[in-house]
Amino acid sequence: MHHHPCSQMHIKTDVKSSCSTEVGAEVEEEPPSQQAYCPVALQPPAKQKTTRKLTIQSLPLDTPTPRRRFRQFYYPSISEKQWNDWQWQISNRIRTLNQLERFLHLAPQERMAAESLQSKLPLAITPYYLSLLVGHEADYALRRTVVPVIDEFTKMPGEDDDPLGEEGQSPVPGLVHRYPDRVLFLALDFCSTYCRYCTRSRMVGHGRLFFNRRRLENALDYIRRTPTIRDVLLSGGDPLTLGDARLDWLLTRLRQIKHVEIIRIGTKIPAVLPQRITPQLVRMLRRHHPLWMSLHFTHPDECTPEAYRACQRLADAGIPLGSQTVLLSQINDTVDTMRSLMHHLLQMRVRPYYLYQCDPISGSAHFRTPVEKGLEMIRGLRGFTSGYAIPTYVIDAPGGGGKIPLSPDYYQGRDGGCVILKNYENKQFQYPDVL
Ligand code: SF4
Repeated sequence: MHHHPCSQMHIKTDVKSSCSTEVGAEVEEEPPSQQAYCPVALQPPAKQKTTRKLTIQSLPLDTPTPRRRFRQFYYPSISEKQWNDWQWQISNRIRTLNQLERFLHLAPQERMAAESLQSKLPLAITPYYLSLLVGHEADYALRRTVVPVIDEFTKMPGEDDDPLGEEGQSPVPGLVHRYPDRVLFLALDFCSTYCRYCTRSRMVGHGRLFFNRRRLENALDYIRRTPTIRDVLLSGGDPLTLGDARLDWLLTRLRQIKHVEIIRIGTKIPAVLPQRITPQLVRMLRRHHPLWMSLHFTHPDECTPEAYRACQRLADAGIPLGSQTVLLSQINDTVDTMRSLMHHLLQMRVRPYYLYQCDPISGSAHFRTPVEKGLEMIRGLRGFTSGYAIPTYVIDAPGGGGKIPLSPDYYQGRDGGCVILKNYENKQFQYPDVL
């Protein structure tokens, strides 16, 4: 694999030398030979061969982003245009142990896991997302979110495949109706990249929930027959992995139901496949307003220029953007990391919405933090940064109790007619309550 990028590089340099004065100067340094009259020579001059090492670091300097360098190194025959085509990204996802080993030196706990995944949440990583974690060790945050480890196979007490009890609240396949006025509509079970801590790992990625018109019509019928539903959350899987036409069809059908006031889409696409957010997609989406989006971001390193641009396009289309972040042990559980992520989100015009305590899905112990950690995150944000940067920390109550917000003890009790409060600096204050 190592010689591919190099040969690519030489061809590139040689082609340039026919039209660029910069490289022309390089050519002049060469001993005069017939090659001087034949800039697109098949054999590169010997001198160039020795001055360029065959490593990823020494690829041409006209590669401004690490992503481009990654592409030229691992996919030398793929153009930037192809790389930026989301369909190419989807069809070239990394899905097997062998493919993974082309890019990463796997740690034993990763290799064993990848070897024995069969019935579990499958492995899938877009080349784009993989490019963010290549060159990092097994303990790197982004790597841990998508590369399985053997701990996934250990089910601890209290863990469950369906901790939120979604199956029991499903009136028709692919629809979860927990609250009277809103439904969770699972469009399909496919994601471009699978998060190892996924709450729906019992169902995503198994190719059982398709974009099947008959199933979808059934779900649409249920919504049509249930006039209390004013809010439809389209999720999955990741609905933005659907093509424009299918998504447009589904949104149009939902929009035809008078009592559906708002539609929300839950997606991780801007973080794992920002190429999907094309001008055509947002042109289509904006026809279905009021449309809201909850974006799934985990770590500041996901906030690349590509992700920024994707969010900018969505925000420019008038889609209010919120974020959902799962608190994950040794991934984003320091105040510095969390604050940095929240600050990026604000700059991307995404309002931090929820910080989730990790659900006790089977095999999640290595991802879960004590609840105290979540409170520590909020304590470290409140008062120390913009209020807009502070998400609501919630535990989705196991068994289907819904989201329960948790907050540090700012309310300390009462003293006669006064409420005792503690501020972010731990100072006490009293508020004369209205009795
Ligand atoms: S994007 Fe969402 S649904 Fe898909 S694997 Fe990640 S958490 Fe699960």
